[in-house]
Amino acid sequence: MPSAELLAIRATLEESSATLSLEPEQALPVPPYRRAFSASALNLFADCERKWYFRYLCNVVEDPGSSAATYGTAFHAALEHFHQRYPKPSSVERTELQRELEQDITRAFAQYRAQFASTIEAQLQERRAQRTAVRYIDWLVQRSRQAPFVVIGNETHAPLDLDGFSFTGFIDRLDREEAHDGVTVVDYKTGNIALSATAYRDEVNAFREFQLPFYYWSRTAAGDRVTRLTLIPLKDPLLEVAPIELEIVPGYAAPSGKAKRGGLGIAELTAARQRMVSLAQTMAVNTLSNFATTSDPEACTYCAYQFACRTRPLTTTDPFGR
Ligand code: SF4
Repeated sequence: MPSAELLAIRATLEESSATLSLEPEQALPVPPYRRAFSASALNLFADCERKWYFRYLCNVVEDPGSSAATYGTAFHAALEHFHQRYPKPSSVERTELQRELEQDITRAFAQYRAQFASTIEAQLQERRAQRTAVRYIDWLVQRSRQAPFVVIGNETHAPLDLDGFSFTGFIDRLDREEAHDGVTVVDYKTGNIALSATAYRDEVNAFREFQLPFYYWSRTAAGDRVTRLTLIPLKDPLLEVAPIELEIVPGYAAPSGKAKRGGLGIAELTAARQRMVSLAQTMAVNTLSNFATTSDPEACTYCAYQFACRTRPLTTTDPFGR
């Protein structure tokens, strides 16, 4: 027979376990988002609302950043400095362009060295950037000789007001095409990138990608005649730099298969703009009390918030991940 003392301990344990049972958390209202919206915030919300909540509203889980993000920041800084000095690459010798970009990359990676996890990591990433830069110069020389352009903006502030909502961002580069005076919006991509013009256009039409539509509307509001949107891949030093180029066309663009060059229609850009406004309304006007997690476990692989995320989807190889 258990003693009275043991019975008391058991009663206490049963009471504690009742208190600790994992009931679903009560959904509580959170403060609405009051800042200007960026394309990356919209893209993040479209990818995973929970992640957007962790980054933009919750702010209690630190995102320490990554080596890939620092690589991108340093490479962008190098290209900004480079094109400030070389706005018209078609008139400069290749050897000079190559030498100067190499020096800009060396300087930029030295500036950001402390943000890499180790000195070795910083050196590896700088070497990767130097090798990618050679391929970038290959493309730049060929493109600027074939269709000359002048760089008219680097890291250009892109404000936009839509239906009372403020959007903001910075455009990596703006080029004015010498042949017809149209403006090309250029975005450097040091991470993954769509494999074809059609793939990027599909992302825009599925409302998963807002960056270039946002820049298009910002520069159009500023008075530019934007005729092309370009994504320049700078991730892989083993691949040639082959940008995704989207010509702006009236209405809807025709399919372009797996080609790197294709079109994006004004009607498609208009739909993306309407979606930007409705997402901003959801984020800023409604008082959200719950944020859906993505259904794609792959999206969680490098998420800084995965250990704080109770309901993230698990892969079949990670059954005990929660
Ligand atoms: S772990 Fe996955 S579901 Fe959770 S916030 Fe990150 S991306 Fe979203």
